[in-house]
Amino acid sequence: MENNKVEVIVIGAGPAGVSSAITLAKAGKEVLLVERGDNAGDKNMFGGCIYAKQTADIFPRFWENAPVERNITTQKIIMMTDSKSLEIDYNDPSKASYKAFTVTRAKWDNWAAMQAKEAGAYYAPKTFVKELIIENGKVVGIRTELEDFYADIVIIADGVNSVFAKQLGLRKEIKDEDVTLNVKEVIKLSKDIIENRFNLDENEGCGCKFIGGPIKDMLALGFMFTNKDTVTIGFGIGLDELKKHNLKPYELLEEIKEHSAIAKYIKGGESIEYSAHLIPEGGFNSMPKIYDNRVMLVGDAAMMVNNIHMEGTNLAMLSGKLAAETAIFALEKGDFSASTLSLYYKKIKESIIYKDLKTHANTIPFMKKHIKTITSLYPELACEFFDMFTNADGIAKRSKYRKFVSTLLKSGVIIKSLPFALFALEKCIKK
Ligand SMILES: Cc1cc2nc3c(=O)[nH]c(=O)nc-3n(C[C@H](O)[C@H](O)[C@H](O)COP(=O)(O)OP(=O)(O)OC[C@H]3O[C@@H](n4cnc5c(N)ncnc54)[C@H](O)[C@@H]3O)c2cc1C
Repeated sequence: MENNKVEVIVIGAGPAGVSSAITLAKAGKEVLLVERGDNAGDKNMFGGCIYAKQTADIFPRFWENAPVERNITTQKIIMMTDSKSLEIDYNDPSKASYKAFTVTRAKWDNWAAMQAKEAGAYYAPKTFVKELIIENGKVVGIRTELEDFYADIVIIADGVNSVFAKQLGLRKEIKDEDVTLNVKEVIKLSKDIIENRFNLDENEGCGCKFIGGPIKDMLALGFMFTNKDTVTIGFGIGLDELKKHNLKPYELLEEIKEHSAIAKYIKGGESIEYSAHLIPEGGFNSMPKIYDNRVMLVGDAAMMVNNIHMEGTNLAMLSGKLAAETAIFALEKGDFSASTLSLYYKKIKESIIYKDLKTHANTIPFMKKHIKTITSLYPELACEFFDMFTNADGIAKRSKYRKFVSTLLKSGVIIKSLPFALFALEKCIKK
């Protein structure tokens, strides 16, 4: 690197930034990847699982040598009432599918950053970027705590709070309704116990989502993931909901852990980590302008999270790759103007990022409106059905059926479900 000048600087070595850096390095471009953590991943946390398709596009056959924890073969959904629960398992034990893997961010992000370095990127951990250097209204580099670096293009991959998108005026302060606070606990258990409790073979993993119970009547979603010898458990809740109900997230997490549906999976485990992080869940309507002269925003910095399907890392990696491809085009053209970099927006528009975020543009407000039906009524009725159907309590079946049907009618579930059918239909037919 001569005179601290490279072709592209990438700020942040999360999934989005590393994906940009590796794509650029593989194309022979001079790229500097800067990360504030001592190692990439030190400052990061998630649920969570990475999705194989977009990950393999950056790291082909990564599962053979990357630090993955478990291949998710079971997807579990738990609906809870105050005391009961209904659990649904979807199993796909065919290893060939390789759909998703649990990872821990400390190990994964560090491994991924090393791949970028091996591909030829300059990698600078322990480097905190203080601000973008702007000359004559144009971004020309970054100011770190120690020195300045210059580049033709800066890719901003600094995550949900994106200080640099704000410095450029591309993003305003994030609104409470556009962000969820996620709290997570890591519980250590033996490998055998995890495999027994979640009914898994060696290396198989489970991803679980839960609703209701202690987080009923709120726009909140719980999650549990199995790693090799830990289980992560947590939930995300809209900041607006949190303030409205004046809730303490860690107290709520304790209540969740005590619910019989969850306690059986984690009992006897040792809590080894607590953390909290924001997710930008405003979706389509909260996406900022993602390019300007000499800059592009990728991943969480660009609010690219599919909140309904819990997809973030895959969209981050894809956007990082598309921004890098745009940078390669611009470098070859020798033109880093907003007009040339608008190709990035075009690529995003054609990708699943734009399409999926657009599909769910109005889903969160819709769910908020019907949250009691989703998180209270459905779990209550589902549990009541199983109670009625499976209980050999000496009461004649016909009277039990009648009682259940009368409960259904009184609950108004049929009328209350109609909006869901129409909403789902609209998602399928609307362009
Ligand atoms: C609890 C939780 C559960 C989740 N579960 C899932 C899941 O199961 N699957 C999924 O796909 N997604 C999940 N997500 C979302 C996913 O984690 C994010 O969408 C993804 O990490 C975004 O990647 P990114 O690279 O854009 O940002 P980040 O991962 O946030 O990376 C940003 C990087 O920039 C660095 N940085 C920031 N500021 C500076 C600075 N000034 N100087 C230098 N470096 C800086 C940070 O240290 C960090 O390494 C979850 C998120 C949370 C919080």
